[in-house]
Amino acid sequence: ISHLSKSYRRGGQDIPVLLDIELAVQAGDFVALMGPSGSGKSTLLNLIAGIDKPSSGRIEIGGIDIATLGEGALADWRAAHVGFIFQFYNLMPVLSALENVELPLLLTGLSARQRRQHAEAALAMVHLEDRMDHYPNELSGGQQQRVAIARALVSDPQLIVADEPTGDLDRTTGSEVLGLLDDLNRKLGKTIVMVTHDPKAAARARRLVHLEKGVLVPDEAPAQDLTPQP
Ligand code: ATP
Ligand code: MG
Repeated sequence: ISHLSKSYRRGGQDIPVLLDIELAVQAGDFVALMGPSGSGKSTLLNLIAGIDKPSSGRIEIGGIDIATLGEGALADWRAAHVGFIFQFYNLMPVLSALENVELPLLLTGLSARQRRQHAEAALAMVHLEDRMDHYPNELSGGQQQRVAIARALVSDPQLIVADEPTGDLDRTTGSEVLGLLDDLNRKLGKTIVMVTHDPKAAARARRLVHLEKGVLVPDEAPAQDLTPQP
């Protein structure tokens, strides 16, 4: 990411949100992005995931400057290369767990049978093989987030971005979800960029990056967890 800036236009004015961001993330890294509310974390994540467009600057991922892609090419790139995990899961309430996980594969040209096999494998990875036909309202918050992780994984993207993935979960359930992200990073080599407010969650990452009012504050190693263990 180089000289990346983003402003939102509102009421005839440009409101700067990200200012000249420079950030290099290696393949296989696990980066935690922290910072106060409103500092631009979600905005940066959405730009990295190709959900939103920068005002200026480059975002080069796997040799492609995604800022230069048109809408269609960007959507294709996103479908093939990025999995997104949200704070509030964003599952489709009228679809079962299995159908939710199959969704990203609908436009890939895979057969129904192949889609099902991939979705079942992704759900097995998050240990939900016995909940595949449950609807989101028949699942706990932690299980819903695991379905969302399976959905993010199903097209086997190299990059996973997660916006406060444990923000709506209790500590134990949040820890399970972090354990899964850790596995994706260490065992499958996925690159993860995770926004979090929780220092415990950030300590699971290999690198910590801070945003303050749209400006990136230089790197630190993950904060040591100094709170006493129960
Ligand atoms: P939080 O920790 O509360 O989630 P954040 O760091 O993720 O905060 P962002 O959502 O990136 O913050 O928002 C950064 C700033 O950009 C905020 O001041 C917000 O009001 C502004 N902003 C975000 N989206 C838009 C938009 N679509 N139009 C105008 N302003 C926006
Ligand atoms: Mg946010």
